[in-house]
Amino acid sequence: MFTRANHARLTLARAAAPASQCHLCRTWQSEPLCAACIQAWRPSTRRCLRCAIDLHDDHPDTICQRCEDQSPEFDRAVVAVDYSGPWPGLLARLKFQGGTALAWPLARLLAEAVQHRLGNTSLIIPVPLSPQRLRERGYNQSWLLARQAGQYLGIPACTGLLERLRHTPRLMSLSAEERLKQIQAAFQVAPNALAKLADQDIAIVDDVMTTGATLNACAQALLAAGARSVSVWAVARTPVDTRSDQMDTATSA
Ligand SMILES: [Zn+2]
Ligand SMILES: [Zn+2]
Repeated sequence: MFTRANHARLTLARAAAPASQCHLCRTWQSEPLCAACIQAWRPSTRRCLRCAIDLHDDHPDTICQRCEDQSPEFDRAVVAVDYSGPWPGLLARLKFQGGTALAWPLARLLAEAVQHRLGNTSLIIPVPLSPQRLRERGYNQSWLLARQAGQYLGIPACTGLLERLRHTPRLMSLSAEERLKQIQAAFQVAPNALAKLADQDIAIVDDVMTTGATLNACAQALLAAGARSVSVWAVARTPVDTRSDQMDTATSA
């Protein structure tokens, strides 16, 4: 676990790192995203307290209608930004183009968004990749985000407790119900993880949240394994709720 002193040392080490260019405005500085760009692209948005979907200004409640009708498995979702503007490009660079230097500023963005809604969070874990996808990519971007957010917040992070059993097959031809079943069946708790998950208040981290079906399936598996509560944290949330499970698997894997 990282202490505040460790965190301060890490911050100092970063401040002394050689200059790099901001990925957005190309200003030379010490971080891959400059403070001005982050500020400009992080509008404050009213969101559903359960699923973090954008609530229209005229929406009177703090919970969206869909969550009123059917609560998700997780207690709450917190996201930093909408999946729009420069964020899809930056997240794609992190995920598909080896842009792991972006993990730190994106994790910090996430940590800043969740720090006032931590509750009793005692353990942070990433949405897992399938073994095949992990081999292809070489890293799990959600684990990079989870680990660095944990360092920032002083909360332990751990990977390998939840497993994604297989590469999600093309789901286009399946009915909505079948697609949901496939997603639900894709996650399981690792056999030796039960003791580590018991009575923990877990935050599960993803880079992008779309329908929430993937995160819901993860929450279900964790709660069945004895976790006390599950929250979900994502860097970005699709602003329009498409309710398409196909899209969920496309962006979250
Ligand atoms: Zn910039
Ligand atoms: Zn909601």
